[in-house]
Amino acid sequence: MIVRQAYKFRLKTNEELEQKLVQFSGCCRFVWNKAIALIKFRLDHNISIPWYNDMAGFLGLWKRSEEYAFLNDAHSQILQQTLKDLYKAIESAFARGNGIRFPKFKKKYRHDSFRYPQGVKIDNRRIFLPKIGWVRFYKSREIEGKIKQVIVKREYKHWYVSVITEKEVEPITRLHSPIGIDLGVRKIITLSDGTYFKPLDLTKLEKKLKREQRRLAKKKKFSKNWYKQKARITKLWQKIKNKRYDYVHKLSTAIAKNHGIVVVEDLRIKNMTRSARGTIDNPGYNVKQKAGLNRSILRQAWGIFLRLLEYKLEWSGGRLVVVNPRYSSFTCPVCGLTSRENRKSQARFVCENCGFEANADFVAALNILERGFKNLSEDLCFLTQKRIKELVLELSTAGTAGGNACGGSALLPVKQEPAGNREGVMLPVKLKQGILSL
Ligand SMILES: [Zn+2]
Repeated sequence: MIVRQAYKFRLKTNEELEQKLVQFSGCCRFVWNKAIALIKFRLDHNISIPWYNDMAGFLGLWKRSEEYAFLNDAHSQILQQTLKDLYKAIESAFARGNGIRFPKFKKKYRHDSFRYPQGVKIDNRRIFLPKIGWVRFYKSREIEGKIKQVIVKREYKHWYVSVITEKEVEPITRLHSPIGIDLGVRKIITLSDGTYFKPLDLTKLEKKLKREQRRLAKKKKFSKNWYKQKARITKLWQKIKNKRYDYVHKLSTAIAKNHGIVVVEDLRIKNMTRSARGTIDNPGYNVKQKAGLNRSILRQAWGIFLRLLEYKLEWSGGRLVVVNPRYSSFTCPVCGLTSRENRKSQARFVCENCGFEANADFVAALNILERGFKNLSEDLCFLTQKRIKELVLELSTAGTAGGNACGGSALLPVKQEPAGNREGVMLPVKLKQGILSL
């Protein structure tokens, strides 16, 4: 099985180099916009649009013309790649039912990027970009696999390279230590071995962002100060985004490193408001604040987390299994009774039938794991129903006895107590703090 992986690094630039990067991306943007204009004109006048090959021919004509001779300064392959990207975008826009809209004109600064299909070399901390030369970058991790393509991109003030590589891996070779994950809304990520992680707390930065946004609203639109304020907001956004990305990266690495099968909830079905509202007995805090914006951001962050986790697992021969999260926190992992009454509070689960008592998030993680086993069994026929129950029972009673789920050399302990302990509920199954290897 061939798997792809993307690595993103920040380039070490100087003024001269940045000029070159701006010039290259400018040429690509020009080609993109010119081609779209041409296609739109044809569509508006009911003329059939040119095929890619014809368009590539036009590109050759533009390059030979005096007016657009500046296109020759850019590497020819990145211009062709721009056209290929455009045609791919148009194709998916025409394919029915996927909701993708017709590609738009690119704007300066917002869409400064270009892509090399080949010719890029990497030598330790330097990357060779054709027609630009060797560029040093901040190497944060080793690159594995064969380089397939490289995207150079500006984000806010800095330039980055995304190196996409390919590697052949044995399909599902590491089916060891299967684990289920319950994604909490605000508080906690719980694994079915009882480890939990506290999601990144960005409230401070988010509050600051809101304050700055209020300040922007008071400024005169398009004035000097307004632009200044806007830049401040963009910077803050970027900071929040980077922090969140960094965190989900570390978290997914730690999990993929230690587990072969990871079972997660289908985010499209998961009810993200669950924890925000809480229950009648135990209403969630900051309900108003949490709804809306936070929910969509979290959904996005979890989406990225799962995507990262999936490719990291594939990369190491593992597998991500997605299951329906319905009633996962109302079902007893021991006797199977599903009832809302089982959930005594936000944190506490006590089975009405058999009396099994545990932290509710942990129960959800166990149920998710069990569903993953069932899905996999249908797929691979490697576990019987009986064995599945045994495994889940083992986990739910021995609970958390095993070693660290996510060990590592440099450790970042999670400070916050699990939700259950905070409320003073005695948990027969004690959750243990997660440790994130950096
Ligand atoms: Zn029960």
